[in-house]
Amino acid sequence: MSKEVKKIMGLEERELFAPGHRACAGCGEALGIRHTIKAAGENTIVVSATGCMEVISTPYPETAWKVPWIHAAFENNSAVASGIDASLKKQGKRDETNLLVVGGDGSTFDIGFGALSGAIERGHKFTYVCTDNEAYMNTGIQRSGASFPFSSTTTAPAGKKVHGKMDPKKPLPLIVAAHGSGYVATASIANLIDLNRKVKEALTRDGVSFVHVYSPCPRGWYHASDSALEIARLAIDTRVFPLYEIDNGVLKFTQKIEKEKAKPLEEYTKTQRRFKHLDEEDMKKLKEYVNDRYSFLEGIEGKKCFDTLY
Ligand code: SF4
Repeated sequence: MSKEVKKIMGLEERELFAPGHRACAGCGEALGIRHTIKAAGENTIVVSATGCMEVISTPYPETAWKVPWIHAAFENNSAVASGIDASLKKQGKRDETNLLVVGGDGSTFDIGFGALSGAIERGHKFTYVCTDNEAYMNTGIQRSGASFPFSSTTTAPAGKKVHGKMDPKKPLPLIVAAHGSGYVATASIANLIDLNRKVKEALTRDGVSFVHVYSPCPRGWYHASDSALEIARLAIDTRVFPLYEIDNGVLKFTQKIEKEKAKPLEEYTKTQRRFKHLDEEDMKKLKEYVNDRYSFLEGIEGKKCFDTLY
């Protein structure tokens, strides 16, 4: 790999998430966190909600974090970050310090959503990174508001009558944008250059900026431990996880996949045992769901769809 490419990918920057943490082999989320904190750099305070990345990185008295880090509960990471933001402002250190809030989908989509919503409305300044593995993996693979339709989890298991989760995934980036956030982006471990750029961009913004990171989980998705990157690429190519940013209320795709060029959805679902129960009818519904969601984004692309607060 050339020096130039390494520089673009942030690979020349110092590792701030140390090896030796306790994530499962092949964890996509740990890779996303490693590159997120690398992009943010040393002068960063991290607030981490309860979840996989907290549990695997800080078994007392050890830590994988090489920056100041604080554990918040599932429900209050944005509230804790709001206090740190206010304190940094009071000390006159706000401009020189990055404040990064990290939460999984359970914390972000569900339990901690109220605190995030309030922090956006109050105009606090921090970057929220949601590492989404589509269930409460740390506590036993329970369904969350981010779980993908028809995926099997321990609280929405696939059976003869009910084929996994029967509800849609919350469109959280759009919900955050509708709050008035000036910068919202989706990112994936399949494109680390893009992830690096989006985190850096988010940290320059006033108010709460938001980056939603697609994070495959071998343990909860029942996929091989060497497949996280392949699955992340397939999620983009099958239009399951669109890559875009909403900058000052205007959505722009950063890697657009045209419907005619998309890979068949089956190529994605067959890689994970959480979808192994899908029959023909389920696949038909799932394809409609994926295409409807993508078409909606295409419909608002390039238009000013959200008013911003900052
Ligand atoms: S359960 Fe999933 S997200 Fe959690 S550490 Fe293991 S692979 Fe990573």
